[in-house]
Amino acid sequence: MSVTIRDVRAILTCPGKVNLVAVKVETSEPGLYGVGCATFTQRATVVVKAVEDYLKPLLIGRDVSQIEEIWQFLYGNSYWRNGPVLNNAISGVDEALWDIKGKMANMPVYELLGGRVRMGVPVYRHCSGCSPEEVEDGLRRFMEEGYRYVRVQQGVYGASRNSSMDSPLADAETARQFHTPEGALAGAYFDPKEYMRITLRLFDHIRSRVGWQIELLHDVHERLAPIDAVGFAKEMEQYKLFFLEDLFAPEQIDWFRMVRQQCATPLAMGELFNNANEWTPLISNRLIDFIRVHISQIGGLTPAKKLASTCEMFGVRTAWHGPNDITPIGVAAHLHVDLTSPSFGIQEFAGFSDNEKAVFPGCPEVRGGYLYANDRPGLGIDIDEAAAAKFPYQKYDDAWLRTRLPDGSSVRA
Ligand code: MG
Repeated sequence: MSVTIRDVRAILTCPGKVNLVAVKVETSEPGLYGVGCATFTQRATVVVKAVEDYLKPLLIGRDVSQIEEIWQFLYGNSYWRNGPVLNNAISGVDEALWDIKGKMANMPVYELLGGRVRMGVPVYRHCSGCSPEEVEDGLRRFMEEGYRYVRVQQGVYGASRNSSMDSPLADAETARQFHTPEGALAGAYFDPKEYMRITLRLFDHIRSRVGWQIELLHDVHERLAPIDAVGFAKEMEQYKLFFLEDLFAPEQIDWFRMVRQQCATPLAMGELFNNANEWTPLISNRLIDFIRVHISQIGGLTPAKKLASTCEMFGVRTAWHGPNDITPIGVAAHLHVDLTSPSFGIQEFAGFSDNEKAVFPGCPEVRGGYLYANDRPGLGIDIDEAAAAKFPYQKYDDAWLRTRLPDGSSVRA
């Protein structure tokens, strides 16, 4: 007799700095359940609603073994598809079904995906500061902990001088610093030209002081005019980055063809992508080197393993998006795919707070710059609902998304 879905619940919790959404799928088998990541932190409650109002009624009574069938069914059932809310909702269910399948097989999910091709997964950390010296200090600390890949930024995502994600400048100070017009709105101001100058000085400092034995990454965060971005990628070539990320906005991806003709700076792209139509042309034309999708944003582990295989055909590598706007369940999902993928490139990793470890027992462990899976069946991670309830939903701090150019106009963050 088949094991069927008895209940589906979305769990909203904020054990760290941002809201996280997990999905728990319970089965007809007593004690057998799975967990998945459905985190779209900026619109967290909408995902909860999508899971409970729309997916749950479609799933009760379904055979848990039919992961692919269920994915295809949920994807098409809304008719209007490919959005981050519904994709995240599907991801929560999809990863939970993989977790259940692993538990039923008494195997870690990486065994179901073909077995490990590496024993640990190299990760990169984020290092930022207000000056080259501050960034250098942070970088050296990560190196002492054994990390060999670090993303370095001065001023968060290019915010100039004192402006940061945490404290958008007050009006008067903004006006002085950025020469804004009268009546300009408050926001996280930044100057693209100044950002490029600051960043080039930063990399010059790091390479001359720290050397070449560390792999450096950098995220432009789609904040430059495209032709300036082309020039910036050329100037950054001398620093031999592991990759340069989000050089263009998703709306400007045709510019990749131009930058490709002018330099060999490795390029990473894709954290905002929702579906295969966005990444397939970039991969099949070899216009990027690393795909950066947020796995829950594309619908979970089922599409991610297909994407990893697509990359393998074209020499593109994976670098799944993984800062702190993801549950540790989502990190475990990364890990199981990464352990089994020949096309793996690097994994972004933000660490876990003590509160996150309490809410999500079984968090993957990092040692010497490598992330390791435990060998428990399924994804190897759980959610403690009582602990999760101690960290309720909090209003999202969107200060860093209120980005403005010196003339006061709003731009994408
Ligand atoms: Mg990024």
